[in-house]
Amino acid sequence: MNSQVFQTPIEYLRGVGVSRADVLKKELQIFNFEDLLRHFPYKYIDRTRFYKIRDINADMPYVQVLARLTQKEIVGEKHTKRLVAQAHDDTGTIELVWFQGIKWIEKTLIPGKVYVLFGKPGSFNGKAQMAHPEMELYSTEVQQRKGNLTLQPAYSSTEKLKQFSLDSKGIQKLVAVLLEQQLKDIDENLPLYIINRFKLIDRASAYRHIHFPEDTAKLNEAIHRLKFEELFFLQFRLLRSKLLHTQKFKGNVFGTVGELFNQFYHEKLPFPLTNAQKRVLKEIRQDTQRGVQMNRLLQGDVGSGKTVVALMSMLIAIDNGFQTCIMAPTEILANQHYQTIKELVGDDFIEVGLLTGSTPQKNRKVLHEQLENGQLKILVGTHALIEDKVQYQNLGFVVIDEQHRFGVEQRAKLWRKNVIPPHILVMTATPIPRTLAMTLYGDLDISVIDELPAGRKPIQTVHYYDNQRLRMFGFMKQEIAKGRQVYVVYPLIQESEKLDLKNLMDGTEVMAREFPLPDFRISIVHGKLKTTEKQFEMNRFIKGETQIMVATTVIEVGVNIPNASIMIIENAERFGLSQLHQLRGRVGRGAEQSYCILMSSHKLSHDGKIRLDTMVKTNNGFEIAETDLQLRGPGNIEGTQQSGVLDLKVANIATDQELLITARKCVEEIFQKDPQLELPENQILHQALNTKGQGLSWNKIS
Ligand code: ADP
Ligand code: MG
Repeated sequence: MNSQVFQTPIEYLRGVGVSRADVLKKELQIFNFEDLLRHFPYKYIDRTRFYKIRDINADMPYVQVLARLTQKEIVGEKHTKRLVAQAHDDTGTIELVWFQGIKWIEKTLIPGKVYVLFGKPGSFNGKAQMAHPEMELYSTEVQQRKGNLTLQPAYSSTEKLKQFSLDSKGIQKLVAVLLEQQLKDIDENLPLYIINRFKLIDRASAYRHIHFPEDTAKLNEAIHRLKFEELFFLQFRLLRSKLLHTQKFKGNVFGTVGELFNQFYHEKLPFPLTNAQKRVLKEIRQDTQRGVQMNRLLQGDVGSGKTVVALMSMLIAIDNGFQTCIMAPTEILANQHYQTIKELVGDDFIEVGLLTGSTPQKNRKVLHEQLENGQLKILVGTHALIEDKVQYQNLGFVVIDEQHRFGVEQRAKLWRKNVIPPHILVMTATPIPRTLAMTLYGDLDISVIDELPAGRKPIQTVHYYDNQRLRMFGFMKQEIAKGRQVYVVYPLIQESEKLDLKNLMDGTEVMAREFPLPDFRISIVHGKLKTTEKQFEMNRFIKGETQIMVATTVIEVGVNIPNASIMIIENAERFGLSQLHQLRGRVGRGAEQSYCILMSSHKLSHDGKIRLDTMVKTNNGFEIAETDLQLRGPGNIEGTQQSGVLDLKVANIATDQELLITARKCVEEIFQKDPQLELPENQILHQALNTKGQGLSWNKIS
């Protein structure tokens, strides 16, 4: 019954009505009781204490003052129009001023009465002042409140809402009505054994105390409970859809490790696998024997050896009579994968095909035939290889490189490529923290390669300020003289915006002067070039015809140019951490020592400084991702927008990682023990499944 009450339109709440409902919807997206219930205070203010006017100053945060109003007056014209009032206590006077909502505030103020003024103290012409204070007539009610409510909730509001008397105080009143009249008892939605095990307070108390905490301890208990609930149901939803997926889709069974794999492993693989690579292969091997479709995300820094793992998994698939394909986001990358795989497997071992947008029609026809008759075992390509025209005889294993460019729909398209959908391995070089991964990719299993092959020289990173530019040029010359190549990367050109960026063109001019022909040759690549022009310039650089590549961030993710060992990032402070890390990953692919130079101006924000320091300090993508998450919060991390992570109201993926993992484990145990949620103690969860709303974002589940 509760759940229906939750969905009651907000206009039915006493004290709301049509016009207030309207602004609540427009300004705060509060449509129903639940939305209001979950419009949590953004802070709490200690309102037990009253300050004397003499004692307040402009450095103080919000304070509460008890003072008698002496006069009020609307002064000024049009834009300067404002309401000014005076109030005093036994220690001094204070000026109160309002610039908005003047008319109705003026009407409510009664000179001669004592008010509780609440606001941020300021000063004007050396006098104490308070702009837009909250005004409350001092009454017995206030005196009582002093006794039992120590923490006053503060709700976000807007100017528009204030015109309808829905400032923080006004909203608070609505919440009080809601809790007292409509939601006297809020049903529990977690099983009792979980509540006991994690020592949670019940749901009704939690909602009550997050709005009107009796004290800090109660408030913390309330927040903890609601955070747990939120994270629990987030994971519950994710793991359940994963479970349903497994039940719905069977998977091909790769029963044996055969000839091809063994031959490759023993005769062709030119290096020992790292422990991380072995572990991931084992995970994939286990997954593909279970008769359930694998959907696995493989995370690992650039150069950690993901491609080799992918190839060896593909060989297992082929050994079991299946075809495989590997899909890259761009032609250049598809080409590179093709070359890499050809080199690794060598001649006469297995047939490898390449299919991209620029594959000539003639070759296409041959490829299509070979795919349909099953002759072609490995196909490398771009999106072209999931087009409907491309039919496989028996596709069993698909590798997708660079997750974030492929959506769920594209993955789904692959599932339809065979009667039993192929196993899918998604590779990404953009590591994200574990907690975020288990939320963003809750429907995928996750493997991590957290170890670089032995003998790699870690990239050395330095941070130079603009006045050290000559040093940078000197270093470039020295390395170019040794035969190395250099990337110089600029933030994207934003021509319409007058940002004080030395944009790419200025930069190129300086470069051209510093590195003149005929000794030096420079390639330029930016977003305004046609694809063919870009490719032409890229190729010149790849072939070593140019030594410097000046580019905007358009340079291809994952492109492998082992001789390019220096990455210079201009205006590095403008890039996000993960982007910096990605860019740095373009170098460090050859035998030579590689370098990354971060150039920035002296003007660095606090976060900007942390970003650059982090880059200098570590090469570990996971560590960097973790810092990124802490700095930016989950909302700005790629992929979070669609994930429901942002629907979290109380919990925070960045700061509540431990609780998230606890909740996740708890949900995993439940599904392991009771996948159909049949046990009596889990009935409550079964009900939650069928309940709309309640902050569980069921609408997100399709
Ligand atoms: P990723 O796809 O993760 O960026 P790759 O699979 O392309 O990495 O590997 C990068 C380079 O390292 C390739 O030249 C590859 O042959 C080599 N490599 C991969 N695994 C190992 C290993 N275990 N030991 C030595 N070199 C390796
Ligand atoms: Mg790679």
